[in-house]
Amino acid sequence: MRVFADFESANIVRPRVEGSTIRFRAKSHGSPNPLWFYFRVDDLPDQRVTLVLENAAQCLGGLQSFAVVRPVVSLDNRNWQRVTCGAIDKSKGTFIFQHQFSNPSAFIAFSYPYGLNTLENYLAQLRKRKNTGVKVLARSPGGRPVYHITIGRSISASYNVWICARNHAGETPPSYVLEGLLNWSTSSREDYASWMRKNLWLNVIPMVDVDGVVEGAYGKRRPPADYGESWSDDSPYDSVRAILQAIEESSTKVPYSLFIDIHSPTPKDGHYCYAVEPEYSSKHYRRDLSRFCQILSHHAPQDSPFPPNSVRYLREGCQYTFHNQYLTYGVLALCLEISYHQTDSGDYVTPDSLRRFGASLGKAIVEFLR
Ligand SMILES: [Zn+2]
Repeated sequence: MRVFADFESANIVRPRVEGSTIRFRAKSHGSPNPLWFYFRVDDLPDQRVTLVLENAAQCLGGLQSFAVVRPVVSLDNRNWQRVTCGAIDKSKGTFIFQHQFSNPSAFIAFSYPYGLNTLENYLAQLRKRKNTGVKVLARSPGGRPVYHITIGRSISASYNVWICARNHAGETPPSYVLEGLLNWSTSSREDYASWMRKNLWLNVIPMVDVDGVVEGAYGKRRPPADYGESWSDDSPYDSVRAILQAIEESSTKVPYSLFIDIHSPTPKDGHYCYAVEPEYSSKHYRRDLSRFCQILSHHAPQDSPFPPNSVRYLREGCQYTFHNQYLTYGVLALCLEISYHQTDSGDYVTPDSLRRFGASLGKAIVEFLR
């Protein structure tokens, strides 16, 4: 077997092939904890292959978090399926999974990949839809495009909503949620969707750390600074300052109503959200938060649930995206954590269930605002 990581978003370090076993590590790119891995294997044998993630204990969430992890495999790098078994080895600090491949070449990843190429193919379709705008807001430090999508018209809208994703580059499930939300908001004939198109100005930044996405970094607390923890005027990233400026300008045109930053949690977690700690937020914010979460819980798909009372607090002393937006504008600002693997219903997420969750997020936004 031969292992390759010479394509977009690939990430692996020190692969070793021993018979029908591949031992590998997720590369950290300077993050305190690695997590994301993605690679291709050629010359696969006609038998079960064992894959060993050797630094699982150092990954975000720790070894126990890997108990529910079921990585994904693909023969064409487009259609993915989950492996059916996975186990942790406490004595060695490793995570082990197996798969019998039906092809001599296959792709293997921690969860469903979603790179810049995938986004650009999607945007080519999206920009053809009515009242939809796609532009390059800024360039990343690596010179890559940071896209800004708008749905609806600022001239006629009454509500201004901002949503962003991939502040942590390796957190791929949010990109499928965004596709679901954008498909629903531009194409659905449901009453809620047409209300959204008429009354909402939806602003979306689909990939904040686009360099990390392309380079295969997981990206949490990656030097020089965590993207999500540097939403301020002295951010080291021009692209973050450009996003903040775009939000500021937009808020003078249409009243700013809601901010959502979409992430993924540790490997073991289902969907939940982080919000501004009660000691720093107003009664009004806490009432809005509780109402929004109840509505989202009501609309979320049964196989991809957002449990009631799923608000958590970071309490790490850092100012995150949603702290910045709440403290600057007083809007309901929160961070949605979208599972990589098993949700609270016991079901594993799929690209389709994540897109359906995105549509339910759209319904929740409408019901919350109108
Ligand atoms: Zn994150």
